[in-house]
Amino acid sequence: MSRAAPRPVDIAIIGGGLVGASLACCLAPLIERHGLSVAVIEAAPMGNLAETAWQPSFDARSSAIAQGSAERFRDMGLWDAMAEQAAAIRRIHVSERGRLGVTRLLAEELGQQALGYVVPNAWMGRVLHRRLAALPLAWHCPATVEAIVPEAEGHRLTLSDGSQLRAGLTVLADGGRSGLKARLGIASDEAPYDQVALIANVEVSRPHGGTAFERFTREGPIALLPLPGQQMALVWTHASGRETARLAQGDGDFLAELQDAFGDRAGRFRRVGSRHAYPLTLITARESVRPGLAVLGNAAHALHPVAGQGFNLALRGVTDLVAALEQALEGGESLGSLTTLGDFEARRFADRHSVIRFSDGLVRLFGIDHPLLSHARAAGLVGLNLAGPLRRSLARRAMGLER
Ligand SMILES: Cc1cc2nc3c(=O)[nH]c(=O)nc-3n(C[C@H](O)[C@H](O)[C@H](O)COP(=O)(O)OP(=O)(O)OC[C@H]3O[C@@H](n4cnc5c(N)ncnc54)[C@H](O)[C@@H]3O)c2cc1C
Repeated sequence: MSRAAPRPVDIAIIGGGLVGASLACCLAPLIERHGLSVAVIEAAPMGNLAETAWQPSFDARSSAIAQGSAERFRDMGLWDAMAEQAAAIRRIHVSERGRLGVTRLLAEELGQQALGYVVPNAWMGRVLHRRLAALPLAWHCPATVEAIVPEAEGHRLTLSDGSQLRAGLTVLADGGRSGLKARLGIASDEAPYDQVALIANVEVSRPHGGTAFERFTREGPIALLPLPGQQMALVWTHASGRETARLAQGDGDFLAELQDAFGDRAGRFRRVGSRHAYPLTLITARESVRPGLAVLGNAAHALHPVAGQGFNLALRGVTDLVAALEQALEGGESLGSLTTLGDFEARRFADRHSVIRFSDGLVRLFGIDHPLLSHARAAGLVGLNLAGPLRRSLARRAMGLER
């Protein structure tokens, strides 16, 4: 069967998950002002775009969203809808199990209503995809990219739905799931943490008052993030293999073990929803840009969720890419040129490295089980409580709420 001639598009986004969908929404003003043609290719079937159901990116997780990210969504005209199911983080409480040190941060100390927000991923997906449905995009779903071939002015993409695209700029936002990065010869550094994040929603016996908890235990960090009502989003890190039993055990036993590991500071754990596990590896792509190609989100960097930074970092990448594209359009530069993409990479480099170093360092610092280091950490947390600016910075960064 002969295939139709390739359809030219300015931008092809591979992956319509959190990052790809955010990028498409962020491009809306450029689509309108400059008549950009954009195609989004998403592998997971979504049915009706306005009724996004379960899929790999918009799953049972909830994300800590920094104020800066909320502002970015506000600029895209999406925050009011996202806020309908968001809970504000008004306090952050960081502690280490078995040690006295605690550091706290209150929004009112900083003269703010909230330090950040927690939004269910499935709801973010719903809001993003409703907006996508209203944009003049070519939406290929479910479809994957079967072949990607570099050409003089971009890439030629062959899709599983039979179409072919010739894209001036291709953005890889597939979460690193498609194997395309490797097929393009983009190498990645991978450092497994030998840990698995078990996530679930839990109900607590008393109002959380907007408190987010980060508790470091011998097994790994436990984060509890506020959700509307008395629900909290749990991210419980386990040594690889230890999560299997906890995924399988009855709710009562699970809640009792969680209570034992976490203590009483959030009240009693009363109920737990479905549990899911995510193996954790630090993955960083060695290249983020090539002529006609940009790599974004988890495809560029998959981080440990301890500091809730992955998506916040990626969203800054989305807005910096769109800013570089806007500048190119205004200056008559091509979207996929190395001048345009080099400008984007220059904006991203320092931020990306500092966030990766910070969240990786946090996991490793609290992962070392040595009594002296443990005392030093406890003293550090107590000291931080006294040292205002440092404490604010650590607590905000630990929750992914500061750039
Ligand atoms: C347990 C956990 C908790 C987290 N908590 C936070 C947090 O609180 N705050 C925060 O900022 N970050 C958090 N993160 C990180 C955040 O979830 C990721 O940064 C984010 O999901 C990355 O989105 P993405 O779109 O790049 O990739 P993904 O979410 O993996 O989405 C990729 C998309 O591409 C599609 N796709 C895959 N292959 C193909 C293909 N061949 N063709 C077309 N489409 C394809 C997939 O179907 C999917 O829709 C957490 C991560 C984990 C694991």
